[in-house]
Amino acid sequence: MSPRVITVANQKGGVGKTTTAINLGTALSAVGQRVLVVDMDPQGNASTGLGVGRADRSTSIYDVLSGDMGLDEAAVETAVPRLHVVPSTLDLLGFEQEVMGARDRAFRLKRAVQALGPAETGPYDYVLVDCPPSLNLLTINALAAASSVLVPLQCEFFALEGLSQLLQTVDHVKETLNPELTIHGIVLTMFDRRNNLSTQVMEDVREYMGGRVYETVIPRNVRLSEAPSFGKPALLYDINCTGSQAYIRLASEIIQRERSLRAA
Ligand code: ADP
Ligand code: MG
Repeated sequence: MSPRVITVANQKGGVGKTTTAINLGTALSAVGQRVLVVDMDPQGNASTGLGVGRADRSTSIYDVLSGDMGLDEAAVETAVPRLHVVPSTLDLLGFEQEVMGARDRAFRLKRAVQALGPAETGPYDYVLVDCPPSLNLLTINALAAASSVLVPLQCEFFALEGLSQLLQTVDHVKETLNPELTIHGIVLTMFDRRNNLSTQVMEDVREYMGGRVYETVIPRNVRLSEAPSFGKPALLYDINCTGSQAYIRLASEIIQRERSLRAA
């Protein structure tokens, strides 16, 4: 079986995509999974947050998408055992223009993932793809390569706005590029239990999206936002903080959902 490719997507910025990719990746590797985080955002926040500064990026996802390098060659180790990252660089900004005329332009990441080979013999069990805040060709590549999509939703008033556009894009990719694509789940982020609006949004999203919403809710937690400035996942920075603990629960929920998806 190919590695499970979970694409973390939401075209809104600042909803917790990168925080989720980093900390979910860390929590999965902590329970023995071999994880590759692929940074598809030219801003490179996932790379920085995993300790790969701009000066240290001698390989990048751009090299992979342009066909010059395999994911395994472009991957670099992090401070987390079993967790590697393919960093992004600003070269990625030119990708869309450069491949405009190429027939395989939406399948560059998928081809690279397939080249890793099956999880049994290849280097990874999970590939987590961190998307840019846009529904551009980079996100389309990430969806075309995915087994499933994980959508972080911030617990704020406009949370549901934009979700239908994302779900339409997912449907469209499923019909045209990737018939296997499923919604893995929706994770509510930056939840503040002292704030009535957060609770209201949580209830609305659960009513509207039902069982697709994970039980685990990620609280607003300052440790989660501090950790990237130390180039560390929150799970290494402070494993006991509420944010780290929530990502550990999310990882176990995801592994359970994976089992039932495989059995189905
Ligand atoms: P995205 O990748 O969707 O743009 P980020 O994961 O970068 O979003 O999060 C946006 C900002 O909010 C970052 O500064 C991040 O550290 C912070 N952040 C994310 N999740 C939380 C949380 N649960 N609690 C507090 N701050 C958070
Ligand atoms: Mg991000």
